[in-house]
Amino acid sequence: MSFLEYAPAPESTAVLNLKDSYGLFIDGEFVDGTGSSFTTISPSSEKRIAEIASASDEDVDRAVAAARRAYDKTWSKMSGRDRGKYLFRIARLVQERARELAVAESLDNGKPIKESRDVDVPLVASWFFYYAGWADKLDHAGLGANPRALGVAGQIIPWNFPLLMLAWKVAPALAAGNTVVLKPAETTPLTALIFAEILQQADLPAGVVNIVTGAGATGASLVRHPDVDKVAFTGSTGVGRDIARAVAGTQKKLTLELGGKAANIVFDDAPIDQAVEGIVNGIFFNQGHVCCAGSRLLVQESIHDEVIDRLKNRLSTLRLGDPLDKNTDIGAINSAAQLARIRELSDIGEAEGAERWTADCVIPEKGFWFAPTIFTGVEASHRIARDEVFGPVLSVLTFRTPAEAIAKANNTPYGLSAGIWSDKGSRILAVADRLRAGVIWANTFNRFDPSSPFGGYKESGYGREGGRQGLTAYLKGAAS
Ligand code: NAD
Repeated sequence: MSFLEYAPAPESTAVLNLKDSYGLFIDGEFVDGTGSSFTTISPSSEKRIAEIASASDEDVDRAVAAARRAYDKTWSKMSGRDRGKYLFRIARLVQERARELAVAESLDNGKPIKESRDVDVPLVASWFFYYAGWADKLDHAGLGANPRALGVAGQIIPWNFPLLMLAWKVAPALAAGNTVVLKPAETTPLTALIFAEILQQADLPAGVVNIVTGAGATGASLVRHPDVDKVAFTGSTGVGRDIARAVAGTQKKLTLELGGKAANIVFDDAPIDQAVEGIVNGIFFNQGHVCCAGSRLLVQESIHDEVIDRLKNRLSTLRLGDPLDKNTDIGAINSAAQLARIRELSDIGEAEGAERWTADCVIPEKGFWFAPTIFTGVEASHRIARDEVFGPVLSVLTFRTPAEAIAKANNTPYGLSAGIWSDKGSRILAVADRLRAGVIWANTFNRFDPSSPFGGYKESGYGREGGRQGLTAYLKGAAS
């Protein structure tokens, strides 16, 4: 029986039937692992949620073997139309179980329920619907002559959008005809395991998707496995480098979605109220645990004081606290380790001479929390201008001319995303053209759609997820 002591958000009727412990999902069934186990906790209360199996090399081998069998015997033989039917079914089941998934996500990750309910879970369903629509059109979409699946995909995802990152990976892989072994992040395995129940409900053939929980060693074992044809990784640039090294010289295909340090550029002709909302959404959405977060605000010098004043006023209205309360704007930091990193980089920011301002929030006694923080007077050489904080911390820099804004925006080893705020369409297009970032938003920020390819330049990785490009990453000989 479920251990659960958590009450769902007051208006929610979601029933969470969590188990006290979870095994691995291999060949269509939950099975015991041969390795150890770990505990997943709620970062807002530090309470135990469930015990989770940690997959050993032997377990990973079993999962890859199941995926290979399913690929050879079932999935690669099935028509695109039939694969699409499964994807549609999964999308509908995600919608049916949306509230339960949202509560589980907020519980395990710490994100506000209004985000998991209104952003994460609806996007998960939309990703499956979108790629379901592609499955029967692969041969007729100009992707090349008879594009074929790669085989078994090993997929490794981070903790910031656990179920959404799963959807970004699993939906295109299945639509293209691959089978999957997926490893969720160790602090947020829960929704992937509920998703495994959804796969059972959908009657997905055994072995088409396998889920192996565990820490980095489980991921490394999956990457190394000789029978994996494709590795898709989303996570930190450091681990991405290790994976690229491990895959080098093999036949495995690789896509990497890594870190970011996005510039959010506000010109003096921008609609200021809208820009302030965009800045808040850009960096404080999901506690700043967002690879494409607008973590560097580049504001034109003449409007700096006005923008910062309005920003501070707006931040003072945000409510930090219980992720399961529908009025919460800022939830918990995902782990003690992540909190320590945010604290360390913020202390360095202060020591290097930037001015620190923190929103006046009541911090709960238990759990991992960090109040929204702004650093002004940041210089390009400061660590908080260069390193990915991955938390609710905004670094503010100024510029005088568009050329200076572009130079500062591009002055980073990353290149995932950027934002431009201006009333002039011609300026937006001219600046966008010179920014080295994979995704550029104009007069908005952090908007996602399954039909739009997403991915980075430079140390933010390579390959694209979403859209037609996201499919070609899972096909042999397909033109992207
Ligand atoms: P992480 O790199 O520490 O972990 C990511 C995943 O990799 C986890 O599942 C982890 O267990 C696994 N892993 C760790 N070591 C491994 C190894 N040696 N071999 C194989 N797998 C290994 O990253 P994180 O802290 O979970 O996530 C935060 C990072 O993810 C940030 O840098 C963020 O920018 C990035 N991110 C990028 C995108 C994107 O689309 N570009 C999206 C979300 C997050």
